[in-house]
Amino acid sequence: MNTTLWHILGAGSLGSLWATRLARAGLPVRLILRDATRLGAYASKGGLTLNEQGQHLTLDIPAQTVDDDEPIQRLLVACKAYDAERAVKSIAPRLKAGAELLLLQNGLGSQDAVAGLVPHVRCIFVSSTEGAFRDADFSVVFAGKGFNWLGDTQSGAAPDWLDELSLAGIPHQWSSDILDRLWRKLALNCAINPLTVLHECRNGDLLQHREEVDALCDELVQVLKTCGQPEAAIGLHAEVNRVIQATAANYSSMYQDVAQGRRTEISYLLGHVCNVARQHGCHAPGLNRIREQLIDHVRARGLPGD
Ligand code: NAP
Repeated sequence: MNTTLWHILGAGSLGSLWATRLARAGLPVRLILRDATRLGAYASKGGLTLNEQGQHLTLDIPAQTVDDDEPIQRLLVACKAYDAERAVKSIAPRLKAGAELLLLQNGLGSQDAVAGLVPHVRCIFVSSTEGAFRDADFSVVFAGKGFNWLGDTQSGAAPDWLDELSLAGIPHQWSSDILDRLWRKLALNCAINPLTVLHECRNGDLLQHREEVDALCDELVQVLKTCGQPEAAIGLHAEVNRVIQATAANYSSMYQDVAQGRRTEISYLLGHVCNVARQHGCHAPGLNRIREQLIDHVRARGLPGD
């Protein structure tokens, strides 16, 4: 068994979910926290807690700050998209030649920004449908079972350490079309999440705004086709409707972020799609209008518009 250390940058919801499952399986894990204050807060908690189906498990996973000098071979980047570039820059000197980065960020844009910072390492993109939230500092609730697709944009081979994810019970598959998957997830997000914020409603309530949803889907299909992601456009309208119905009682992640006063990842979601549309000369008035309304909406609540 390969015993390469799993360094995990960011002990938030997903970072903690991955760290605790890997550590529970006996794999070596190091948490990387932003500074000595966060390291002290972690030490006073006595470890990282995973809450899964009512069972609490606290694991005393070793932690360090970004300023530590331990070399890094394998790094899971578990920050928000808007923090990823700065966070990776701060640990870049610690990355060994041939290191591997797993990028968990939602949306698109941050992955390329990170990859551009560290051209000497392999960047693996992850599209995750697992759900987790923090019920306290350094304590995570595994809220929704899901799946993780991993892949790179160089058509590289699957890494041999995927066995370790199986050992840790992290559902996954190597994907040869990770960009299609990320674009598809992004398109679904753009068709649903911003409207739930603007209408202040659950996903299912969008059935009363079908024309608006369909108009966004029309534009998203055009953008996907124009920017070289036609596979991600196939059957988009039907899948958006299916997701709205299957998750009718849920509040979208963007709705929850805004409702709880947390910064959203707009720039890497709807913002990214609008930018790509503009770069390709693709007319997307509905998407741009929704983006502007969304930015106004979050700013009015004291949140950053990017
Ligand atoms: P989160 O709970 O906010 O956690 C982010 C963590 O990153 C925080 O613990 C934060 O530290 C840490 N961080 C930020 N900058 C850092 C730095 N410079 N150095 C060290 N640590 C730093 O976010 P999340 O929900 O896990 O989301 C992470 C990504 O996964 C997002 O792109 C999200 O969209 C995506 N995602 C999340 C879920 C989910 O269910 N949560 C599902 C699918 C995808 P502090 O604690 O010190 O602030």
